[in-house]
Amino acid sequence: MNVLVINSGSSSLKYHLYNMEKEEVLAKGRVERIGMDSSILTHEVDHEPEMREVSEILDHTTAIKKVLDMLTHRQYGVLTNINDIQAVGHRVVHGGESFSESVLIDQSVKLEIRKLFDLAPLHNPAHMMGIMAVEINLPDVPQAVVFDTAFHQTMPPKSYLYAIPTVLYRKHKIRRYGFHGTSYDYVSKRTAEFLERPMNKLKLIICHIGNGASCAAILEGKSYDTSMGMTPLEGLMMGTRSGDLDPAIVPYTINKEDLTLNEVNSMLNKHSGLLAVSGISSDMREIVEAMNDGNEAAKLAFEMYAYRIRKYIGAYVAAMDGVDAIVFTAGVGENSAQLRKEVCQGLTFFGVELDEERNEVRSSEPRRITTKGSKLSVLVVPTNEELLIARDTYQLVLNQPAAVESISNE
Ligand code: ADP
Repeated sequence: MNVLVINSGSSSLKYHLYNMEKEEVLAKGRVERIGMDSSILTHEVDHEPEMREVSEILDHTTAIKKVLDMLTHRQYGVLTNINDIQAVGHRVVHGGESFSESVLIDQSVKLEIRKLFDLAPLHNPAHMMGIMAVEINLPDVPQAVVFDTAFHQTMPPKSYLYAIPTVLYRKHKIRRYGFHGTSYDYVSKRTAEFLERPMNKLKLIICHIGNGASCAAILEGKSYDTSMGMTPLEGLMMGTRSGDLDPAIVPYTINKEDLTLNEVNSMLNKHSGLLAVSGISSDMREIVEAMNDGNEAAKLAFEMYAYRIRKYIGAYVAAMDGVDAIVFTAGVGENSAQLRKEVCQGLTFFGVELDEERNEVRSSEPRRITTKGSKLSVLVVPTNEELLIARDTYQLVLNQPAAVESISNE
């Protein structure tokens, strides 16, 4: 079965086409600048040079059409016919309390996702545009949705409730939801395989450190707590997001700087984090480069960033009364040996002994970066959110009765 995985943003759309029998990526790419002039489609097939096409793509329906044209292109395509796509899986950021697992799309699911627009105004409407665009272009193909929040629905109330009047939870569902759930799901399973231990016996702390960054305490295979909250703003310091701060700073800043709520919201989401403290960049590569060249502001930004990760690790060791492994994943977590070293230097109390050579090794496979004698293991486990979306979609489609019939008749 071929599964097309779609991650649809407001002006961009990423795609991965998987053959599920081999769990192999047949092609991948992205459409950028949807709705603007000079939209760009970038398409990549293994071992072939990347292909770029500039054209006018005014909406998501046209973007999906262009992707399907490319996938079936005589020269650059990998399929002979669009009927060779048997299912489509979408990433959806917010599933609220309605979804604790991935589901096939029907009218009621679409309605629920629409109801959640308020909770994720930047993301869910854009995902819905992707879903509708696929529906128009591939009306007979089943579609599934995989939610970033679903994995965290196992958190107990003491983790997910805020200490504010409970009427706000009852009326408006104001609570911690957590994000990066697809990544935590994938990485926790991969970690258990690597450690050759059953998941339901493990206490893991996973640090998903990318442009957006969060940590999660995974107790016996289930999310027990996580640093992001009702929105992806809470928790760790990020590229452009502030992470945790005293909520009183919001009204105080509004008064002192004569700002609107929207301006403060934009400041905390887009003009804070590494970018604000360093004054240089939100990209960890540039921060590390500047720091190594002696830039003091970059050094401070780097230290704050690592220190906050370390504080969350400490909190989650206490929350779970222990930990079997600490895991780094995502863009920064997988690639920045210097960041991992800075975090681990403060974890000696827990028995972490970093192996500097192992920490410098680059690999797409899971690996241990602590010494053989280290009491606590620290691992790097590359994430693969697209593969998990493809797997969930594949399983959902296989398990729907009508599909079993049609596939077995092929
Ligand atoms: P997203 O949250 O957009 O999915 P990713 O997980 O892809 O983000 O992470 C992207 C980030 O990874 C980049 O902003 C960059 O800071 C960081 N990154 C990638 N490679 C390196 C590297 N070699 N060293 C430090 N940071 C890196």
